[in-house]
Amino acid sequence: MTTAAFRPRVLTGDRPTGPLHLGHYFGSLQNRVRLQSEGAELFIVIPDYQVLTDRDTAEKLPETVEELMLDYLAVGIDAERAVIFTHSSVPALNQLLLPFLSLISTAELHRNPTVKDEIQHSRQAQVSGLMLTYPVHQAADILFCKARLVPVGQDQLPHLEATRTIARRFNARYTRGGSPLFPEPEALLSAMPLLLGTDGGKMSKSRGNAIALGAGEDETAQLIRGAKTDTERRITFDPEHRPEVSSLLSLAGLCQGRDPYAVAEEIGEGGASRLKALVTEAVNEHLRPIRKRRAELAGDRGYLREVLARGNARANEVADVTLAQVRTVMGMTY
Ligand code: ATP
Ligand code: MG
Repeated sequence: MTTAAFRPRVLTGDRPTGPLHLGHYFGSLQNRVRLQSEGAELFIVIPDYQVLTDRDTAEKLPETVEELMLDYLAVGIDAERAVIFTHSSVPALNQLLLPFLSLISTAELHRNPTVKDEIQHSRQAQVSGLMLTYPVHQAADILFCKARLVPVGQDQLPHLEATRTIARRFNARYTRGGSPLFPEPEALLSAMPLLLGTDGGKMSKSRGNAIALGAGEDETAQLIRGAKTDTERRITFDPEHRPEVSSLLSLAGLCQGRDPYAVAEEIGEGGASRLKALVTEAVNEHLRPIRKRRAELAGDRGYLREVLARGNARANEVADVTLAQVRTVMGMTY
């Protein structure tokens, strides 16, 4: 695993719709950093086109992309080794969408539970073709670099299943008898695959319920004070019946490296206010060094642009090779 000869590829990404939050951190970023330190080759896609799945226009993309890069580097992603790239900068990756679209039915796309959920939260009255085909462009993002592992949150599992289906069908149709072109990638879930936001729904950049990694300590306190809980005074860890309280306990537990049951025990009859005070302290304490590093890096935007340019160049090299292989096995070399 740690030898230079075989570095398993890992791909994952985050839409440039706002700064990263605690859900990203505990759901995916920590796994990315760990895999990288174990020797994996890390690809991070910033899918700018995919911003348009649920809204008409993508605002302030360059600034938002820089914020994401700051988050990545601040949590420990190695700028010298990781390939961080923007989706629209890699034409060959996008061209994979067409053959992949031929491998999935419209009924399968309509059935995808993540697409359904994204439609429900969409800002658009109509469902665009881009939204419906979300799992297919995501398959292109993952398969262009033949990633084996995808560290994601729970919401992404149906999309990943679609990627596996597309890889399998492509191999069966075009490389029958030969060695398969695409591996079937595996999802890697963390211990916190679905962190709830302050409104009790999935914490999301676009739903106004997130605690950003780069938020200030007072802002963090204010957001956690406003988080939805319940009226029971005694705090217990019971994810099924008390999802909001339990998500807060898990968050504190993750920050402090403790069991959430032990955190609940400590709060006992202290109620939601004691719980929130404890969570605030735990989050601010845990994020302090990350926020410090983020503020330092924020001073050098030129460096961020350099890292992105390098990532885009590398992603293009990889995508060009894969597209050439795809066209060859499809008999499209002229
Ligand atoms: P948006 O609201 O714009 O869709 P988001 O917060 O849902 O933003 P994404 O860019 O869609 O973030 O997701 C990036 C990655 O982070 C995905 O792997 C996703 O599964 C993971 N992730 C997002 N939110 C959470 C969460 N609340 N808990 C765990 N993982 C999450
Ligand atoms: Mg999302």
